[in-house]
Amino acid sequence: MSTRQTSVGGVLGKRGALATAALLAISLAATATACGDDGADASDHDATTSAASGGSTSAQDGTDAADTGTASGSGPSSDSDGTDGSGTDATGSDGAMADLGLARGITVIGIGVNQGLEVDPAARYSVTALRARDTMLRVYFDVDEVSWQEVSPNGRQLEARLFLRVDGIEQAYLEQSKLVRQDSEEATLNLVFSFEVPAAVVEDGLEYRVELHEADLAYAGLPSAEVDPVFPPTGWTRLDVPADAVANRLRVVMVPLEYEGNCEPTATFDDAYFEQIRFTVHNMLPVSELEFSVREPIPWTTPVTGDSTFDLLLPAVADVRAQDQPDPDVYYMGLIDICADCEDCPAGSGYYAEPTLAAAPFRASIVVHRDDLARVANSAVHELGHNHNLQHNPCSDFVENPGEVLPDYPHANGLIGVDGYEFATDSLHDDASTYDVMASCRPRWTSNLSWTRVRAHIQQLQSAVLAQGPAPEREQLFVSPGVVVCR
Ligand SMILES: [Zn+2]
Repeated sequence: MSTRQTSVGGVLGKRGALATAALLAISLAATATACGDDGADASDHDATTSAASGGSTSAQDGTDAADTGTASGSGPSSDSDGTDGSGTDATGSDGAMADLGLARGITVIGIGVNQGLEVDPAARYSVTALRARDTMLRVYFDVDEVSWQEVSPNGRQLEARLFLRVDGIEQAYLEQSKLVRQDSEEATLNLVFSFEVPAAVVEDGLEYRVELHEADLAYAGLPSAEVDPVFPPTGWTRLDVPADAVANRLRVVMVPLEYEGNCEPTATFDDAYFEQIRFTVHNMLPVSELEFSVREPIPWTTPVTGDSTFDLLLPAVADVRAQDQPDPDVYYMGLIDICADCEDCPAGSGYYAEPTLAAAPFRASIVVHRDDLARVANSAVHELGHNHNLQHNPCSDFVENPGEVLPDYPHANGLIGVDGYEFATDSLHDDASTYDVMASCRPRWTSNLSWTRVRAHIQQLQSAVLAQGPAPEREQLFVSPGVVVCR
């Protein structure tokens, strides 16, 4: 057997990679964003983000330190009087723009935190942050419509600065400039400031603080604001990152099946194909570490023409797993193109598996290729959900088989409960119109119930793996698992 393996420790994609690179760069030299000094070509979609200043071990010049508050030890600047800027900026003397002071006529009303699912520890089915996972912070604001319209009827360029510190030590600040015309809208990402906080700094002890600054010299002389556009109003906000007993680790081996049945497959199971599945699995499930590899393909010569022949696929994947003898926490997922791109064909099948070492043989599933790769990736998450003992959830327009539906699903019509966020497309999955990934309605994303149950399952399984010691005993206790076929 041979595999191509990738391991991911929190970086979700190109946007995350950029943010990480930017943050890492701070230890070498402070950088500055381009000044938003004209705004002439800015649009609601235009926003730039970069890292600046900070860095607990790097030598900073006095200007940088003053700008982030490290010199005084009292946190970032909070002067509302633009004249107090005194020409300080993120880079000091290298010619960057002057600090124009805190923005006027605008209030920060809150910060949204999302790691693929909205973090809300206080809610029912509480979603707490995972350490070492990319995290979106969104800055919501209200403008004072009267003065805003009067002073800048076409909007004006502002700069949001996000300051981060861990255990009281400043890490960096990220900044983003944007043309602001009106109140932010939670459902419209292009009307909010959005920061992607790299996984490397997401840990217990992380605190953040946001300031909005003027970024257009034309508005430098405005009178001071009555309420500073900073959040929190004083001090810092701590991100609740519980210390898990073990890593939130998921290990998946993809098994391509080379179909030689009754048709000529057209799917190309190449790196790009598997990358989308990997990315989606990481985005939709509560994991900090995803080990994802692709096994050598196996041939499949039995024509898949109906339920009885389809039902042969899942045990075959389990057999491959048994032959390979992987660690007990490794999930095997078969992938086959049976040339059937129809609504009635099964999308996949999987075993229910308890979070025990003994259930290892049943960490197996099969996913059917469709022309819509996003749908395939979504089905992969769904089958992993079954492997994490999740049942189907009810939704409004699909009748499930009796006994396969969770009876106490808490959200009406199988909706997800809180907003999801897709890093690949920088898009929200609205809790009012998105169904749980274990439902059969679409579009689907992970609900807070499924998220918390998978997280608990991962913690139990990884604790069992840790407890078994360095020489794992691969038990083959064949309990009777449930099998589910998904349409
Ligand atoms: Zn299913």
